[in-house]
Amino acid sequence: MHSSPALQPGDLGGTWYAGGRSCDGVSPFRVRAYNDDFVILRQAGCTNYEKPFLYLVFGNDRALLLDTGAGNVDPVTPVDTLVRAWARRHGKATMPLIVAHSHGHGDHVAGDTLFAKRANTTVVGRDSSAVRAFFSVARWPSDSTTFDLGGRIIDILPIPGHQPASIALYDRRTGILLTGDTFYPGRLYVRDTAAYAKSVARLADFARHHAIAHILGTHIEEQRTPFKDYPVGTVDQPDEHVLDLTTTQLFQLDSAVQSMRGKFTRTLLADVTIWPQVP
Ligand SMILES: [Zn+2]
Ligand SMILES: [Zn+2]
Repeated sequence: MHSSPALQPGDLGGTWYAGGRSCDGVSPFRVRAYNDDFVILRQAGCTNYEKPFLYLVFGNDRALLLDTGAGNVDPVTPVDTLVRAWARRHGKATMPLIVAHSHGHGDHVAGDTLFAKRANTTVVGRDSSAVRAFFSVARWPSDSTTFDLGGRIIDILPIPGHQPASIALYDRRTGILLTGDTFYPGRLYVRDTAAYAKSVARLADFARHHAIAHILGTHIEEQRTPFKDYPVGTVDQPDEHVLDLTTTQLFQLDSAVQSMRGKFTRTLLADVTIWPQVP
């Protein structure tokens, strides 16, 4: 274990329940600050059953938004409000916004065109070559790199397998590891099994050598009851799993994945399901 300064604490809150089928009186995003400089947003279930999570992280010089939602909704307004409020609290006239993606699937990039029209905003491309170029990854996917928000370093790890442009982000300030659709409490769809096995091994190795406060993905599909998920397409999930996963659960996934030795079968673990997809 590296010696590291104390991690900045925060509050994940309790349930992240995203509401039922009706949008009456429902805000299109649930927004909760983990702490002053780290905000979590979740798209309401009534707008899209995927109910993805978005993450907004502030450094001294720029803010990073991870993902833009699943569409049928305006993500710019809530993010804009948050960025303006943060800038005001910190006495800054402007705050550049970088919009990157956990990966290129449609339920995480649908708001890109809206952000492209926003001033002072850079939208990173979706495919692996664009991601690699923007973050200056020397060798994809074996090399990690860093991105500096200004006094706040984010580690970027390529983790293809679910999707070719998948990345994980590690915030050294809070110790939060963002794993996208590669690892979350739900169905872990694996498109490229060889790449996924290597990526999960790389994530587990990273977690062994860094202080991890929480591991946060981009969906919740599991129920609170172990080994049970909500069926595909479920909107209303009143008894869903908590958002965060632990290193123990990541190491369990790594063990299960490595023991398959390239021959993936659908496998239920207590908090996730490994779900190979026919290419
Ligand atoms: Zn995905
Ligand atoms: Zn997704």
